[in-house]
Amino acid sequence: MTVFADLESNVRGYCRSWPTVFDTASGCWLRDETGREYLDFFAGAGALNYGHNNPVLKQSLLDYIAADGLTHGLDMSTVAKRELLESLRDRILRPRGLDYKVQFPGPTGANAVEAALKLARKVTGRTEILNFTNAFHGMTLGALSVTGNAAKRAGAGVPLQHATSMPFDGYLSGADDDSFEWMERVLDDASSGLDSPAAVIVETVQGEGGVNIARAEWLRKLAGLCSAREILLIVDDVQMGCGRTGPFFSFESAGITPDIVTLSKSIGGYGLPMALVLFKPELDQWKPGEHNGTFRGNNPAFVTARTALEHYWSDDALESATRAKGARIDRALTGMAAAFDGVTARGRGLVHGLVFDDASQAGKVCAAAFGRGLLVETSGAEDEVVKLLPPLTISENELDHGLELLAASLDAVGS
Ligand code: PMP
Repeated sequence: MTVFADLESNVRGYCRSWPTVFDTASGCWLRDETGREYLDFFAGAGALNYGHNNPVLKQSLLDYIAADGLTHGLDMSTVAKRELLESLRDRILRPRGLDYKVQFPGPTGANAVEAALKLARKVTGRTEILNFTNAFHGMTLGALSVTGNAAKRAGAGVPLQHATSMPFDGYLSGADDDSFEWMERVLDDASSGLDSPAAVIVETVQGEGGVNIARAEWLRKLAGLCSAREILLIVDDVQMGCGRTGPFFSFESAGITPDIVTLSKSIGGYGLPMALVLFKPELDQWKPGEHNGTFRGNNPAFVTARTALEHYWSDDALESATRAKGARIDRALTGMAAAFDGVTARGRGLVHGLVFDDASQAGKVCAAAFGRGLLVETSGAEDEVVKLLPPLTISENELDHGLELLAASLDAVGS
């Protein structure tokens, strides 16, 4: 089956995992051009938390386009943008006691990370950014330089951004907090060259890194260390925000308030490109035009983003449904892990991982799942984790069906 190898660059990736040509999609299902259906446990790498062609979001988009709403708006003021900003304030920020200003940095997660890093450098007058092993923050040079993955960094040569990866070893339950002792010592020692970083950037759950979950206490210690040393804390919520772990922001459960937050992927709601940087108002030291770009005003994405906030975040129904479905996945994965040697399970909300001691097994399970009509991908430094990332709107029946397909795939590979 052709995957456009003659037409498209060698850099392409997902078409290799899923060698078919997709055509249409709705809810948790994709269809290829032969009419075969696939259940989606991937959700556009976290960009489709509300599913494909979500009918409520679709209607708002159709209405907007039918009324000749502005589509491309640079950073002009528009009705669609005002309504989104007001909705974000009223539905998300105020109820959580958060006071953030909003920047539209460009269409992608990497754009949000770049803006966050630049702002931290500008505000502090310092350049170093601390990040964590196995972190993923994007493929542009600045974001890549704070990505704790040597293989991914290798393609870029020397990082432009001075960055150091600290061990992300506080996430396993029961682990001690050696990373902080080490961090404190390095920060106290001027000869380390790391004595005055501008910021720390962290994911509360490392998605690409293999579903590595930071403990709440670890995050609180990190936030305390940052505030004591006037280091800005950036939480990259590009993948774990918008309800993926349960609450709208992934850091809510730890009770911390980052100085800067990045959002993208599911914030546009409908899979339309959009990103946000949120920061404490006193950090808004940008001068007009200092960080610009052509595609910062995707007004159709503002419309679907606002509809998603109004429809899904006016109460806590989505959050509690996510927790309930997460518990269902937990039970199923714990059963699978018990039945297979060398497999463990972990997760939070609707992001889960099956971790294989033998990394090569994870890819085989994903391939077997594709053969059974389930889209699920690997993550982790060695691609040793099968990562489950279904749309939050998945039904319990669909979830159970996908988990059965996954168990059958595990069986097929194990036997
Ligand atoms: N940060 C995190 C935590 C991510 O998971 C990703 C994408 N996987 C990015 C940043 C980069 O986003 P994008 O691919 O939209 O540039």
